[in-house]
Amino acid sequence: MNYKKILHCINNWFVFFFLAAFVVTCCTMLFITTLSESLDITFTEKNISAAAKLTFGNVILISLIFTIIDAVRRKLMIDRPTKRIISAGEKITDGNFSVRIEPLSESYPYESFNSIISCFNKMAEELSSVETLRTDFIANVSHELKTPLAVMQNYGTMLQSPVLSDEKRIEYAKGITDNSRRLASLITNILKLNKLENQQIFPVSHHYDLSEQLCQSLLQFEEIWEQKNIEISADIEDGIYISSDSELLSLVWNNLLSNAFKFTENDGKVSVFLSADSEYATVRISDTGCGISSETGKYIFEKFYQGDTSHATQGNGLGLALVKRVVDIMQGEIAVESEVGKGSTFTVRLRRGENIGLEKAD
Ligand code: ADP
Repeated sequence: MNYKKILHCINNWFVFFFLAAFVVTCCTMLFITTLSESLDITFTEKNISAAAKLTFGNVILISLIFTIIDAVRRKLMIDRPTKRIISAGEKITDGNFSVRIEPLSESYPYESFNSIISCFNKMAEELSSVETLRTDFIANVSHELKTPLAVMQNYGTMLQSPVLSDEKRIEYAKGITDNSRRLASLITNILKLNKLENQQIFPVSHHYDLSEQLCQSLLQFEEIWEQKNIEISADIEDGIYISSDSELLSLVWNNLLSNAFKFTENDGKVSVFLSADSEYATVRISDTGCGISSETGKYIFEKFYQGDTSHATQGNGLGLALVKRVVDIMQGEIAVESEVGKGSTFTVRLRRGENIGLEKAD
């Protein structure tokens, strides 16, 4: 027992002593004033002094008993769960994120311990997923860089063959071009994300036509929707102006639309919706693609996360991480609604900013 605990016990004992002394004194006074009159008892100095000594001894005994009961109660009810929480916290500090604390029984008198334990367990869960993502990041970057490089090397080797039909030569050259493009896009995305995360990109806000920008972004995918025979529904309110960084926002629309077209099978449907009130503009991009399960949905905004591996060759899992970062920088909101097998809807809500009054002026 260290000296702090001894001091704490003495302090507790004093509290109980004064409490017991107060209660006993009050009772004695009551007893003397009421009973002495009604029973006509006379108190001599001698028996008052004997009674006082006895009472003092009793007060000391009672306060000691209370102090012991209180110490045992503390030990069992407070120190034990506190020690469990502290020891789990120490394990987390040492990097063991798998540690969880078992909740106390429901009848436990101090409910706040169970709240602390459930918060702690949630924190440990979050930390372990962040740690997994961090360690995965390096592995992912290396893997994502190595795959297109290996494919390019293969095509390059095959191109060296002296007997090669024109058709094969074009196919291999196209393979190299596609993969080098993928590599370039991966590196650009990593750099962009890095800059956005380190706040090295400062949004340049200007007043521009968001309706026009969405139409332009949609048109970039014309070749794909014609190839896949995808139906387009564009419910884009005309002349919606916004004060924001158009370059960063075009990154958002391009990524969301590219995913919508990528995950929608032939003969599906992609819808783009834009509306606004005086303060906010709302963009909704929906598709009738494979949808996102609730488990996948938890991670889609994480770097390098790819839920649907069948489309993994067409992306690098950075698109939605970039989208989320840009929307956060713009202080907007992004939400996803999805049903597996039916499709997904991404909704982005942005503040229109100042100059709304200038609408349609430029
Ligand atoms: P990528 O598209 O390169 O795989 P993203 O960051 O853009 O990476 O998306 C992450 C994951 O989110 C995808 O791998 C996919 O599982 C899921 N996802 C995103 N958009 C959609 C969508 N419209 N429909 C179904 N799944 C989607």
